[in-house]
Amino acid sequence: MERTFVADTLQKIGETVTLMGWVDNVRDMGKFGFIDLRDKTGKIQCFVGSKDDIQKVTVESVVEITGLVKARPEKMVNAKVATGTIELETQSLTLLNRAEALPIPVAGDGYDINEESRLKYRYLDLRRERLSKVLRTRSALVREFREYLYKDGFTEVETPILTASTKEGSRDFVVPSRMNPGKFYALPQSPQQYKQLLMTAGVDRYFQIARCIRDENLRADRGFEHTQLDVEMSFVNQEEIMTEIENLIKTSIQKMGGKLKDQVFPRVTYAESMEKYGADKFDLRTEEEKAEGVLAFAWVVSFPFFKKVDKEDAAEVADGKSGWTFTHNPFSSPIPEHIDWHLKGENVEQIVTAQYDLVCNGFEVGGGSIRAHNPEVLRSTYKIMGYTDEMIEKGIGHMLEAFKYGTPPHGGIGLGIDRLVMLLCGEASLKETIAFPMSYTGRTAVMNGPSELDPNFLKELGLEVIKKN
Ligand code: ASP
Repeated sequence: MERTFVADTLQKIGETVTLMGWVDNVRDMGKFGFIDLRDKTGKIQCFVGSKDDIQKVTVESVVEITGLVKARPEKMVNAKVATGTIELETQSLTLLNRAEALPIPVAGDGYDINEESRLKYRYLDLRRERLSKVLRTRSALVREFREYLYKDGFTEVETPILTASTKEGSRDFVVPSRMNPGKFYALPQSPQQYKQLLMTAGVDRYFQIARCIRDENLRADRGFEHTQLDVEMSFVNQEEIMTEIENLIKTSIQKMGGKLKDQVFPRVTYAESMEKYGADKFDLRTEEEKAEGVLAFAWVVSFPFFKKVDKEDAAEVADGKSGWTFTHNPFSSPIPEHIDWHLKGENVEQIVTAQYDLVCNGFEVGGGSIRAHNPEVLRSTYKIMGYTDEMIEKGIGHMLEAFKYGTPPHGGIGLGIDRLVMLLCGEASLKETIAFPMSYTGRTAVMNGPSELDPNFLKELGLEVIKKN
């Protein structure tokens, strides 16, 4: 028989339907009993007349129940449940998978369960209503983004996961190459270089729901991977791209039922932000707006291009050979007024980058820039950081070459999808928005990576593991 979803049973009073789902609750009354059956659309009470059937099911077992949808007598109506006006009178019950006692409860919000158990049994954790809602919100947001961008003439393009270092300021994750022993791929910190090359290729407007992988020091609420709505556009200036992104965010968030503080996102310079808030991100909401779940977006602009290297940061030390490194993105252009200084390597600390960050409720939710599409400007960035001509050639020679063959002016942005979903759902951690997040010690959910490799496999890869003491 055709499957009916719980939410649709309300329209089927008097009909016989087949429901499939989980046993949310069993009440054994002796000769008969009740099962609350749950599927992704809701829960319904099923009257079960067979004592055997009631005794064979356990909570969280998977069942198929065929029965008659009946209106409940008025005094039996439960106003707290969406299907509280009806009940299913069970005709047959099939136990599809009997559940043993669960290692973690799936009722409730789950915040009080320790992270280790939640991630080990993530497939159970995700059954709870709160998390299944977050997953669906995430999917709906991505759908809104896609629809907006398709309508505006964007093309979705996938870029490689096995690639070479993207030089974006974090440590790379590397993958050994079996065919080239001693050589390694790097996983992308973002699709930055490929999306720029797509502009050279004439794609004009690109986007991708892109996984970005960075070997950064872990924080309680984040792992090594995040997902970004990655966008790049040709023939645009800073104003045009910010307007496009602002409209994309406003349309998508409002369609999702999100409440925005401002219809025109305020713009704050980096200097003003530091002076006023002591940071380059800030929260513009009043206490009342916080309670109402309002989203307060703002742009931060006019960042310095370079900063002094932080000697504690390995990636910065590697990039900033002269003692200067980039603050945001080495592929950015300076603002037009500072291109001359940039080309001459003068007034380095005063050069402003054409970078724009999007902040919301105290978090950075995105960042992008107008890029250097002229090879000399890009070369100067690396010269200022102390790279020799050979190092520049080795690191970004392919970009400098591509920029010789007709590359349009272009710019783009990366918007943090995990962060946006977190704010939209009123969650406090990015991990609540990711189906299978990593633990704070860098272990993968359920599958428990990283793990050791078989010695034969290591040999094939030409690798030897040196034990650290
Ligand atoms: N590649 C940048 C990042 O991942 C985003 C951008 O500039 O488009 O932060």
